This record gives sequence, C-alpha cells and structure tokens, in this order.
Amino acid sequence: MKRRAAQTTLFLLVACLPLLALANNPQTPQLWVEAPTVVEIDRTFHVRVSADRPVTFTLTYADWTVEQVDQALDVQLSARAGVRDLTIEAVDRNGATTTQTVALTPVPPVEPRWVITGGSRPGDPFTVSVRFERDQLAALGSPEILIDGRPTPLLQEGEIFYAFGVAPLRTEADTVPIELRWGRESVRSEQRTVAHGPLAGDVQLLQLSGEVLSAVTPEARELEAAALARARANLAPQPQWQEPFLLPIEGRGTSGFARSRRYAPGGPVSFHMGEDIAAPTGTPIRATNDGVVVLVGQYPIKGGLTVIDHGGGVTSRYYHQSRMNVTAGQTVRRGDVIGEVGSTGLSTGPHLHWEMRVHGLASNPLAWVNRKRP
Ligand SMILES: [Zn+2]
Repeated sequence: MKRRAAQTTLFLLVACLPLLALANNPQTPQLWVEAPTVVEIDRTFHVRVSADRPVTFTLTYADWTVEQVDQALDVQLSARAGVRDLTIEAVDRNGATTTQTVALTPVPPVEPRWVITGGSRPGDPFTVSVRFERDQLAALGSPEILIDGRPTPLLQEGEIFYAFGVAPLRTEADTVPIELRWGRESVRSEQRTVAHGPLAGDVQLLQLSGEVLSAVTPEARELEAAALARARANLAPQPQWQEPFLLPIEGRGTSGFARSRRYAPGGPVSFHMGEDIAAPTGTPIRATNDGVVVLVGQYPIKGGLTVIDHGGGVTSRYYHQSRMNVTAGQTVRRGDVIGEVGSTGLSTGPHLHWEMRVHGLASNPLAWVNRKRP
C-alpha cells in the first residue's frame, strides 16, 4: 500500500514536470539553427533548425518554401547566386512566432583539379596533386585528404596542394581510395582511386644460419620498434629537399623490394620492405636526399642503422652498416657519406638494405631515384 502511494507521487511529479517547464518558457519559440555561412553556388547545403516545442516551420530561401510541423527541420537546399538570406519562421500552437534570418555568402562552386602520379604496383609511392582557385579556399577553409581511409598531411607549393601515399603491399590486385574534402562548415568531397596490380613472384627462402637467426628474438624486435617509434616523434612536417632522390650506393641489386620471403622452410611469409644492394664492406653510403638524421645505432636485427627524416612524411632507412659517420640531430645534404656497407645484424653478406618510408609505410625505394616526387 505504501509502495503504491510512493509510485503515484512519483508519477504525478514526472507528469507535471513538462507543465512546469512550459510555464517557464519564453512566450515565443526558441530556435537553434545550424547552417553554413559560405555556400557553393549550385551545390547543395544542409540546414537544420530545432525549436524548444513543436512548431510550424516555414523556411524560405530564394523561390523555395518548406513548411513542416515538428520540433526539428532538416532540409537540403541548392545554393543560388546572389541570394544571401534564408528565413525561418516558427509558429507554435498558440500563435507565438519567432522569425530568424541567416546570412549566406554564395561563392562560385569549388572544382578542384587533381592528378595522381606514380603507384601502379603494390608498394609504389604516389603523389596526389590538387589545385583550387585561391579565393575560394580563403572562403571555404583548408582542404583535407584521406588516403586509404587515413587522414594524410596536405603539403602546399604555391597554388598546388599535394600529398604522398603508397599503394599497400597486398598480394591481390586492389585499389587505394583517396578522398579529398573541403569546406569549413558544409563538408564536400570527391573520391578517386589508385589501382594497383598483384604482387608478382614466388616466395623466396632465405638461407640464414642458426647463429644469425638467433638474433631475431621478441626482445630484439621490441627494442628496434621502440627506437624507430621514438625517431618518428619529431619529424619535419614540410619537405626538406629540393633535388631528386639518389641511389645511396652503386651496386648489384640482390633482393628487390616487396619480394615475399620465408626465413625458414614452412615459416611465415613476410614482405621485403626495402631494396638490398650488394657491395663490398666499406663501400660509402650516401644520403639519398637532404634531411635530418633522427636515429643512428647498432641493433640486433637491422645491424648498423641510420634513419634520415626528409620531411613531408618521407624518411629513408639504411641497415646492416659496418660504420656510421653521422649522429642523431645532424643535418645531412643529398650525397653526403653517412656510413659504410657492412653485414651487421640479420644479414647473409655485405649489402645495404635501403628503405623509403612514406608516413611510416614501406614504399619502393627505386621509384624515388632521380625523381623529386613519385
Ligand atoms: Zn633487405
């Protein structure tokens, strides 16, 4: 009996709350409007209006009128040249009226012109270059790009925006989706894809001695991964190079980039993330381009390792060196001798393992040689 009384009291309290709230409301409906201030002519834009109570909305823009009874209104409109006002009227059931006008600035539609160069095989780097009209961007805000779903820094040179990507190392033929977005308030986007072929070639079996293989322990892997992660912490956002990339040593290519390999018969298959170039121990290794050394050290698997940050998301890595001539933090110029070929770490003979990473992803180093951009 007592419980029922308590429930009734609670019910009455809950039932009366909306009435109390209504009594406190202002006379006229309160409105919240979400609309862009800059709109592209002939493109659609979205307007959302909500009210503090059910109302009859009348939205007027150019020669369109939308009328709807609800507490919220969502409309897609097409922007008109020369039309600056969008008017919303909201009338509640007692006839209380609120009118609000939104000022819009129509601008010519944005038509980015973009080209993608490079990237037809897995691991091939590519460059996405985009040109906008300068005055439109001032009104619409900076564009953004997503490569394979990942937000990627857009670099700028004059009126051209560009970004670097890599066709991923997949054995099947596939495409890389690229999405360009712009518009500060009302996001618009365009999609492209980079198609790439399948990864060719058989799985190579590497004949490594037990002694050499014993270097590959989980601890060694973690140690190297942590060092590389630390080196990634302070990379230059802007490209530091002006000239084409160069081959760090002259030698005989022994194991191409992206070859699939096993370290033991029946073992797991991994991809070769760099280009191996065989050369005698002591052969000078040159910096592939201008940059800053971000990591130097002797490591159990990668051996004598140097990482150079070239800025713009591009880094080069040099493994198995017998000697390193640079220190972390040092600025190097294209062609500077940074170390010497060796066979340290997980290696079967003197060679340079050279990697070119783009936003951390392995790309085909040879695709950079003699080019300023892929
Ligand atoms: Zn290698």
